Amino acid sequence: MTKSYVTLEICPICKKDTGTILLDRRLKDTFESKTINPTNVCDDCRKKYLSKGVMIINPETCRLTVIKDSAFKKIMDCPIPAKKIAFAHDDVLDRLIIK
Ligand SMILES: [Zn+2]
Repeated sequence: MTKSYVTLEICPICKKDTGTILLDRRLKDTFESKTINPTNVCDDCRKKYLSKGVMIINPETCRLTVIKDSAFKKIMDCPIPAKKIAFAHDDVLDRLIIK
């Protein structure tokens, strides 16, 4: 089976197109012809969520949560990342996601 490596990037939060075409061979997890890019979110979500918080995502599973800047500083022992996106494993996410 031949797979196209040209995919439309989708936002990990709302799953809408970000308008970017990806040509990266390393991105293997395609969702039909669309690919979640865990390092980028669309403009809407950036405004809505990342203006006040930090997205924490597991790049392998694309599970994610967004926590407030103040909570991030309290929980994580590191400064807020410039892009407001941080990576974490599922066990960390389990503790952060309120069920
Ligand atoms: Zn979005």
